[in-house]
Amino acid sequence: MIRISPARQAVRLYHEVFASDPVVAVSAPGRVNLIGEHTDYNGGPVLPVALQRRTIVVAGPADGWEFVSSVDGVVRRAGLAGAMPREWTGYLVGVARELERIGRAPAGARVAVASSVPIGAGLSSSAALTVAGAGSLARLAGRRLDPATLVDVASRAEHEQVGVRGGRMDQTIAVYGRRDTALLFETGSGTLRRVPMPGRIWIIETGVSHKLTGGELNERRRECEAALGRLRERWPSLNFLADLPAGDLAAAEALLPEPLRRRVRHVVTETARVRLAVEVLERRDLAALGAILVEGHESLRRDYESSCAEADLIVESAVAHGAWGARLTGAGWGGAVLMLAPDDRLRDVLRGVAADFAARFGRKPVSWSTRAAGGVRREALGS
Ligand code: ADP
Ligand code: MG
Repeated sequence: MIRISPARQAVRLYHEVFASDPVVAVSAPGRVNLIGEHTDYNGGPVLPVALQRRTIVVAGPADGWEFVSSVDGVVRRAGLAGAMPREWTGYLVGVARELERIGRAPAGARVAVASSVPIGAGLSSSAALTVAGAGSLARLAGRRLDPATLVDVASRAEHEQVGVRGGRMDQTIAVYGRRDTALLFETGSGTLRRVPMPGRIWIIETGVSHKLTGGELNERRRECEAALGRLRERWPSLNFLADLPAGDLAAAEALLPEPLRRRVRHVVTETARVRLAVEVLERRDLAALGAILVEGHESLRRDYESSCAEADLIVESAVAHGAWGARLTGAGWGGAVLMLAPDDRLRDVLRGVAADFAARFGRKPVSWSTRAAGGVRREALGS
């Protein structure tokens, strides 16, 4: 199958819809978090990589605001004042409002979007959109945003404008991603450190949309807050759950009722797994990373209860057929599994997983691979 690149697709769409050519083009990647799930809002570390799949936002000058995405090809008009659009254009209106706040928005724009990032699969199509959008619209206004400002504008667009509560991991990796490199992001302190990630990463989509279960995520956040409140009675200086030393875990568990006990166990052991993952990646030991992924998945399944039957089956089947390891990635209750496997086992693993999945769920899961890729960048406008 020949696929046209999102860059060409966006330029072509712009041309078709607006009968002119865009003047700026910026792309940003989706991401997959290798390990460190649900640690972000607990002040812990995360270890994302940027995907080779990207979203591109091309733009040209206009008096008002017009948006079109390759998802449906429908042109939507919006103003920056007044109510926030409820559909996808809200993300870009949010970006434009945030740019306006810091004096870097164009007066208006025509915008076309195309993407190869799966939408709503836990691979952060939303941050790819807001980061590429911020880069593109700022350039249209004749401004270049430094990386920290890009993260800030894109995060605020999603959190303050669209109103999706979340951390800054997605926007940070979409900006700072680098080829064959993972990014250790300490969400408590905001520090970044690059770690080698030389392997090919397989993504196996469960086909279950995590959107349907947003309520569970908020429930977990409340549980974590409640657990932190109780643990602070014993450790008053504890700022985040992820700061609890692993050596204090047994004492902490004794103070907590279920299910808070299990939630804290996940956060503390997951934080330790991120530290270990960094160590094994410094040695480029992907087999050891695979084993850490499997432990992480088990912790999500048993302690955080954020997995789903489809993901459990993929992980179990992948390991049974010879993968180094796999785990559910993203918020949970659906989304995608990330998997690492040695090249000489790959065919067997992918076939085995597809067959086991089809036998249980009556359909084939979509799977594809990526290497760790670069972050936001300007794209050439040639056609
Ligand atoms: P995720 O970020 O995991 O893919 P989210 O629910 O955070 O899932 O974001 C998905 C939303 O982002 C979509 O519902 C849509 O509003 C918007 N979006 C992302 N990519 C695109 C795109 N290429 N075109 C239009 N809207 C998009
Ligand atoms: Mg998102």
